[in-house]
Amino acid sequence: MKSTHYRITPLDPHAHLFEVACTVPDPDPAGQAFRLPAWTPGSYLIREFARHFVDVRAECAGAPVAVRKTSKDVWQVAPCIGSVSLIAEVYAFDLSVRAAYLDQTRGYFNGPSVFVWPVGHEERPCDVEIIAPMSDACHNWRVATSLPRSGAEPYGFGRYAAANYDELIDHPVELGSFMLAHFEAGGARHDIAVSGRHRGDLERLARDFARLAQSQIDLFGGAPASRVPFDYYLFQVLAAEDRRGGLEHRASTSLVCKRDELPQPGAHGVSDEYRELLGLASHEYFHIWNVKRIKPAAFVPYDLTRENYTAQLWAFEGITSYYDDLTLVRCGLIGATDYLELVGRSITTLLRTPGRAKQSVAESSFDAWIKYYRRDENAPNAVVSYYVKGSLIALALDLTLRLWSALTLDDVMRALWRRYGEAGAGVPEDGIEAIAAELSGLDLSAFFADYVRGTCELPLAELLRSFAVELNLRPREKDKDKGGRPARNTPPSVWLGMTFASGSDARLRHVFNGGPAARAGLAAGDVIVAVDGLRASPESLKQLRRARAPGEHVSVQAFRRDELMSFGLTLEAAPQDTCWLALADRADAAAIARRDAWLEAGSAAADATGQPR
Ligand SMILES: [Zn+2]
Repeated sequence: MKSTHYRITPLDPHAHLFEVACTVPDPDPAGQAFRLPAWTPGSYLIREFARHFVDVRAECAGAPVAVRKTSKDVWQVAPCIGSVSLIAEVYAFDLSVRAAYLDQTRGYFNGPSVFVWPVGHEERPCDVEIIAPMSDACHNWRVATSLPRSGAEPYGFGRYAAANYDELIDHPVELGSFMLAHFEAGGARHDIAVSGRHRGDLERLARDFARLAQSQIDLFGGAPASRVPFDYYLFQVLAAEDRRGGLEHRASTSLVCKRDELPQPGAHGVSDEYRELLGLASHEYFHIWNVKRIKPAAFVPYDLTRENYTAQLWAFEGITSYYDDLTLVRCGLIGATDYLELVGRSITTLLRTPGRAKQSVAESSFDAWIKYYRRDENAPNAVVSYYVKGSLIALALDLTLRLWSALTLDDVMRALWRRYGEAGAGVPEDGIEAIAAELSGLDLSAFFADYVRGTCELPLAELLRSFAVELNLRPREKDKDKGGRPARNTPPSVWLGMTFASGSDARLRHVFNGGPAARAGLAAGDVIVAVDGLRASPESLKQLRRARAPGEHVSVQAFRRDELMSFGLTLEAAPQDTCWLALADRADAAAIARRDAWLEAGSAAADATGQPR
């Protein structure tokens, strides 16, 4: 079979331009069309990558030929005899894991943002030439990608290959002078390539990533001797100033973390920051199975030209979010108390989202394209996170299965892997409910109707009690208080029902439906300038929350745009919206045994490297 040839060149690091060429040896005689994806799998928003294509031209057998656009992301080349190339400069200055970046320090590209497909030739093999940059500043650059090599030396520029377009765009490429660490797991070599300025301990990182990887390999494969569905896996890690993110791929993941999340040389235990990075890596690794191979039927195949609707993102992201932290405690990287702190934080986040009463996770999944990924000032009132609530549904489902059947959620995941993942079939919209009910013998219809398709509150306190864990609630101490731990200071006695944007003025970020600010008529974006006739600041409003009592009235002056307005607020008792979980060690022995089995305490967790903090 003929193949499509791609060539990508870091053309001008100072102008942040790659040059990308796609050549078809035998173009459509009626004129070859080339198309660019409108979104990238794993991130459910129409991103219109074509807006960064500049100076697009075409060549036929080496000579210029006419090309015109027929829609925002389609280029139509005039009919001609001989091979046809579409050549574009692509502006690349997006530090996220979704698009492309190029300057004198590093380069990165995620396939959907740079590689067009020749319409009608999507299934053909692709060969890719990655050209070294000319600039002296880039003389020591190497290449880190899981794209199979086809002539290139390890970590070298040169030729790579993919079986088809779908595979081509699922192996992002990092260029630069990154540092490398390695480990083996599941019979495959794993590399970690870390870019950006940092002083992280990469040996420690490799040891710890190996533990979490092995734990998940064992979950899906059934230890011992379980193998991974690839020969090579790559963690691309960018250490940056203050951003975070990750995107899953079939044999790699791109992560952006804050510099201080990398383990520091000589440090013992797992800091709060490092725990974030471990959780992120664990999350993306779990996606190797859950979403990259066990996929909603709506993603088989992906339609890269438009939204792909499924009500199942709660399962593909939520179950993954449940297992990301659970893996850390099971493989002994963190202790049970640390794990419960993370669950407490998730419950806190959900409790502070009034939108959970308005939107189910099934609806949130379906509308991810226009709501979850496009959150605005009203999002807390209208949108529930399918990550956060999805992870808590997974927790509730796991505990329900453990309590009332001989199964666990691990068994359900293994069954999904065998029935859909290994078979290459998509999971139908009711597939997860059906497989959980079938295997457990339980009637789970009310569970899925109430918690997945409905907006009922999850019965977490009761379920956790059966696993010797106490769920406690308290008012939040300050807006930055994420929950998970008992109160340290005296919590404020009142709340205002609003949050503030960062900055020195008291600008409202969110106003919660039904809260004191909303009832008084304040709106997101208003800037409060005075309370009871005195100048207000974010700090003075915090003081007010401690100094006043529920039922008291305050007068507020605020600017809405350039208009000064007056409001009368009646203060309310601060809600119990902050959760922390505790081990109930005086619970009965059966509950403690269930908890130990759930967290696998007593086996892997016994040799925890996480020191008590
Ligand atoms: Zn995810």
